[in-house]
Amino acid sequence: MTDLANWNYKTLNPKILVPIDGVKEILYQWMSMMTGNREPRPMTIEKYEAGVIYDDGTMKVTAIATKHCGGSHAFLLEAEGKRVLYTGDMTRTVEDFPHSVVEEGLDFLIGESAHFSTMKYVELLKDKPVKQVVITHHFAPNNQFLDAKKALDPLPMALAFDGMEFEI
Ligand SMILES: [Zn+2]
Repeated sequence: MTDLANWNYKTLNPKILVPIDGVKEILYQWMSMMTGNREPRPMTIEKYEAGVIYDDGTMKVTAIATKHCGGSHAFLLEAEGKRVLYTGDMTRTVEDFPHSVVEEGLDFLIGESAHFSTMKYVELLKDKPVKQVVITHHFAPNNQFLDAKKALDPLPMALAFDGMEFEI
C-alpha cells in the first residue's frame, strides 16, 4: 500500500483486485491523504468474484468464497505443478473450509487458527492429500498446536512467524 503512494512509482499502473464495491473510493481517499492531495496515481481497480481471478500461463489464482465476512475468500495458487491454498480467515465453525480443494491434493496449506481451535485441523486434514501445513494468524495456546501436530504426525506442520521460508 505504501508503494502505491510512493512518487517514485507514479508511472506504474498496478492492477488491484478487490472483492467488494467501494474500495476504489477508499483507496483514492487514502492515496490523496498520503500524497498531500496530489492527483491519485494511475491504478486499475477491479472487483473479482469467486473463480479464477488471475492466470498468466505461469501462475493461476482461484478465489474461493468463505464466510468470515463480506467478500472474504480463500486463494488457491497453482504454478509449476504445485498447489498452495491460503485459507484467509474463516468462520468459527470452519464450515467454509474448502474441502474439495484439499481433496484434490495440496503441496502447501497456509491456514488460519485465530477463530477456532488449531485442533480442528485434525479432523480437517487427517489422511488428506496435503504435504505441508503452516498455521498463521494464530492466538491459540501452543499446546493446541502441539496436540494437533502430534495427531497429524507425520504431516509437517509449523506455526508461522515473520520471515519464515518454506521449500515447496
Ligand atoms: Zn482474523
